[in-house]
Amino acid sequence: MSFSYDVKSELCKIRSSGCCKFAQFYGMLLFSRAFSVDCVSIATEHEIVCSTYTHLLNRCFNIHAPVETSGQKRNTFKASVQGKIDRKRIVTYFGHNTTEINDEIIKRDCCKEAFLRGVFLVCGIIVDPNKDYCVEFVLPDSPICDSFVKFLNELNLTPRISKRGNRKIVYFKDSDQIEVLLTKIKASHYTLELMSIKIYKDIRNKVNRKNNCETANISKTVAAAVEQTRAIEYLEDTGLLYMLPAELVSAAMLRKINPSSSLNELCERSSDPITRSGLNHRLQKLVAIAKEEMESEKEE
Ligand SMILES: [Zn+2]
Repeated sequence: MSFSYDVKSELCKIRSSGCCKFAQFYGMLLFSRAFSVDCVSIATEHEIVCSTYTHLLNRCFNIHAPVETSGQKRNTFKASVQGKIDRKRIVTYFGHNTTEINDEIIKRDCCKEAFLRGVFLVCGIIVDPNKDYCVEFVLPDSPICDSFVKFLNELNLTPRISKRGNRKIVYFKDSDQIEVLLTKIKASHYTLELMSIKIYKDIRNKVNRKNNCETANISKTVAAAVEQTRAIEYLEDTGLLYMLPAELVSAAMLRKINPSSSLNELCERSSDPITRSGLNHRLQKLVAIAKEEMESEKEE
């Protein structure tokens, strides 16, 4: 199965609720096969995406649509809303028009992310980051595509755009942007994988340049660097970082701007003199604080 399939399978396990279930469903409806009073339907190769669509249809509007299968070599999974009154109800609820995304449905940040996840599920493609950094949205060449690009820009995502037949391809090649996008749609497992791959590539390049025998230590170094970077991001996001003692904050900043550096390199770059073990101790401390916080968050 493809890398996209794996990521989508992870995303389909997230059950959007409350306001977000409408937002996610809206994202799926807008870019699926048809969304109008005459036809509301999805056709996809991914069974799990189709069943997420029918699940949301049921949760949001209490409408049941069976999943049908067709195709010989490659299965296609389809579902459509049968009754015209039901279709009208959905289109009216979302205040749908064919030129612009209805901002009212995605006012809140949580809903923006759920909406983006919905769009990614129906028309997103992600390449295995071990091979290349690339995320694409394959969209109809229509004003709604421009509206989607505007929406991405508001989230500080700046895709490139190209044409393929009668489709527009809205795509990302920049690994930092892809990381942000994956975080927003809550593909946390893959965000982490992408981060590890980036750090791994950086370290491997450096080792290759030095041409020494550090190779054996790469995976250990990567694992530690990823763990520290994640901990620091978490502490920053929760606002806890800046409540910590200054020496921990500066250790965190040092690691943050040098995610793939070894301890020795970090020591060299440190503005105040510090030993390798002293720095290691501070980084370990940051990881421990983040872990403790994550645990207590889980318990609440
Ligand atoms: Zn929401």
